[in-house]
Amino acid sequence: MKTSTITDGIETTLRSLAPIDLADAPLYVVLQSENPPADRLLLDSWGNYHPKNDLVFRLWLESCGRWRGRGPLVVVNDLDIRDASPSDDAESNVIAIALHELAHALNTGFDLTERTAAEVALIELRASFAISRLNAAPTLPQNGLPWAGHDAHFIRVAAHLSHRAKLAGIAIELDQVIALNHYGLRSSGDEYFCALTGEFERFDDAPLSTLRHHQPPAAFVWRWRNDLADWCQQEPDDAKAMLAFHYMELFKRSL
Ligand SMILES: [Zn+2]
Repeated sequence: MKTSTITDGIETTLRSLAPIDLADAPLYVVLQSENPPADRLLLDSWGNYHPKNDLVFRLWLESCGRWRGRGPLVVVNDLDIRDASPSDDAESNVIAIALHELAHALNTGFDLTERTAAEVALIELRASFAISRLNAAPTLPQNGLPWAGHDAHFIRVAAHLSHRAKLAGIAIELDQVIALNHYGLRSSGDEYFCALTGEFERFDDAPLSTLRHHQPPAAFVWRWRNDLADWCQQEPDDAKAMLAFHYMELFKRSL
């Protein structure tokens, strides 16, 4: 089975938004509607990215004639997204979640190291175990902070991808790409997007993986710190509130 036209379209769109970051690496989009192995899917999630996802799905990709070597793989639960979306927004919400997962790949990096067959088998076994455990009992991020994994570095990469999508004529709002309130942040995606407007053009031809090495606009830093300060004020657990301070300092080094 080859990819569907929809999958081909999303892969092409995503690749066009991050050509320098992806370079020659294959990019895989796996839609739940394509019936990938059920024990490889997170049930309580609209999307998923892990640097070893391509290996986790490798046998299935090979059986579909889609394996092209190591590269980032994003899973998108298009069935649940469509169920939860008004019909006019369903298509753009599916692309928005694919963008969200691509932002993870660019923000955390991807692993292109070749692995032996035995290593791949072990990775698949561990992933299957971890996924079944998470499906049985979904948990908060490892340190209990709701934005862990979706901090200001991630929001910034996601905003640049949304900006590039708009340039390409794809109407995607940052609020579709990341539900900030779900991560304990009070500002809207639109407010973060506006705070970054001044730097978009400067990075249009740059790899997004290098964004974190450049100081963002002051308005963006202010919004991030303000959101965390708000969260700390309402958090009764002092240990968690102290941990949050680490995230408030994200851009301090380069100030
Ligand atoms: Zn995420």
